[in-house]
Amino acid sequence: PLAALDDPGLLRTQALINGEWVGSVNTFAVTDPATGRELAQVPNLGRVDVDAAIAAAANALGAWRSKPAKERAAVLVRWQQLLVKHADDLARLMTAEQGKPLAEARGEVVYGASFLDWFAEEGKRVYGETIPTTDPTKRYLVLKQAVGVCAAITPWNFPLAMITRKVAPALAAGCPVIIKPAEATPLTALAAAELAQRAGMPSGVLNVLTGDATQSIEIGKVLCDSDVVRHLSFTGSTEVGRILMAQCAPTIKKLSLELGGNAPFIVFDDADLDSAVDGAIASKYRNAGQTCVCANRIYVQAGVYDAFIEKFAAKVGALKTGNGFEPGVNVGPLIDDQALAKVETHVADAIALGAKLLTGGKRIDTPAGGNFFEPTLLADATPQMLCSREETFGPVAPVFRFQTEEDAIRLANSTEFGLASYFYSRDIGRIFRVGEALEYGMVGINTGLISTAEVPFGGVKQSGLGREGGRQGIEDYVEVKYLCLGDI
Ligand code: ADP
Repeated sequence: PLAALDDPGLLRTQALINGEWVGSVNTFAVTDPATGRELAQVPNLGRVDVDAAIAAAANALGAWRSKPAKERAAVLVRWQQLLVKHADDLARLMTAEQGKPLAEARGEVVYGASFLDWFAEEGKRVYGETIPTTDPTKRYLVLKQAVGVCAAITPWNFPLAMITRKVAPALAAGCPVIIKPAEATPLTALAAAELAQRAGMPSGVLNVLTGDATQSIEIGKVLCDSDVVRHLSFTGSTEVGRILMAQCAPTIKKLSLELGGNAPFIVFDDADLDSAVDGAIASKYRNAGQTCVCANRIYVQAGVYDAFIEKFAAKVGALKTGNGFEPGVNVGPLIDDQALAKVETHVADAIALGAKLLTGGKRIDTPAGGNFFEPTLLADATPQMLCSREETFGPVAPVFRFQTEEDAIRLANSTEFGLASYFYSRDIGRIFRVGEALEYGMVGINTGLISTAEVPFGGVKQSGLGREGGRQGIEDYVEVKYLCLGDI
């Protein structure tokens, strides 16, 4: 699929350190999850390369943070425009290495790029304050300054947007960054870095280090151990988030963590059922169920349970699964074997514990040998099932029946996670009660899609620390400094 790029220069297979493309004798393969075929080999880097990137970023810090925000913004806006201009090629790269349908990939490019112009503007508004004095001989001032060199470790489910959501506020605030993209999806990251170069990013301000699963652990350690790296932003599993948090403890590094979710999706008796069904389809099956905000548990009130299941089953059954390059495909392959195995385990466990399989339920064997799983609907799910406690991260929707509003809130909150939640109701009192009672960082009310650059995205409990996007998204990248001016 990569032979069809309009601009072949976007297929970058080297890492970017200090403004230079760097190869290595050690490489690893990037593969297409729809066919299992190798797409490219990229450098499998280690400690020496990380040290070089840290030194380059440290060297670039002074000049970058002392530029007026408006000049940094100009680079970000040029980069955003180039990403949008090359959206078709970036989408091709993304579909090839990640699997999501081409239209969805293109949507991610535009969404991912939007963080750049949003934070280009927000960077101009990193205001300090003056505090009314309590001592006539003194004045109190507060400045906000770039934290310093930042590192970003990103996942494969949004190969571009999870990078820009971290890198845009860092760069806008004046911080150089070192990106370690997921081993499954480095090509999108490297293409984006190529466009950053074309946008005029100064050397060392943006660095991309590639590594396979083993080397990613090594790269992570060096970044965490470094005293020069002042902030680490990570999106991925809660398990890895815990490891990174521990590794950052010795240097008291600032952390932004966007970790696992276990999103409840609640449909009350008074919901607009057709809208709830559409929302559930969008929230559950987008990216083949591989987003941290995908509905993981669907709770439907007893009065509309049967009607919801009937409508939902018809729509799930109509989803088309296949290679993301094929027109009309809604659900692409899962990222790898392990992802397939987890989905199979969740389905088998649910059925063994009494769930009713209404649609799907098994792997799809294709001649090309991709990681496909049928869009699956399980009715009569219970809290004992694995799919109720763990994030499935696949195209499986377990539906649970509940009786009262109190039950729904209790069930929804009975998890250590707290990222996204959703509910459908037309009752204004219930909307406020439930919206306030859900222990989640984000609540979608009568919608299954909540992400956009302008809002604070993030979780509570074990789903993470900090917020990305919105006016809040830049705060993790600035330090507050208090100046006390005496002898007035
Ligand atoms: P997912 O469940 O989305 O695959 P992971 O948490 O395993 O998420 O991976 C997300 C990112 O974290 C990837 O870039 C991966 O290479 C990286 N990663 C995984 N384990 C570690 C680790 N121990 N140290 C540093 N980075 C890691």
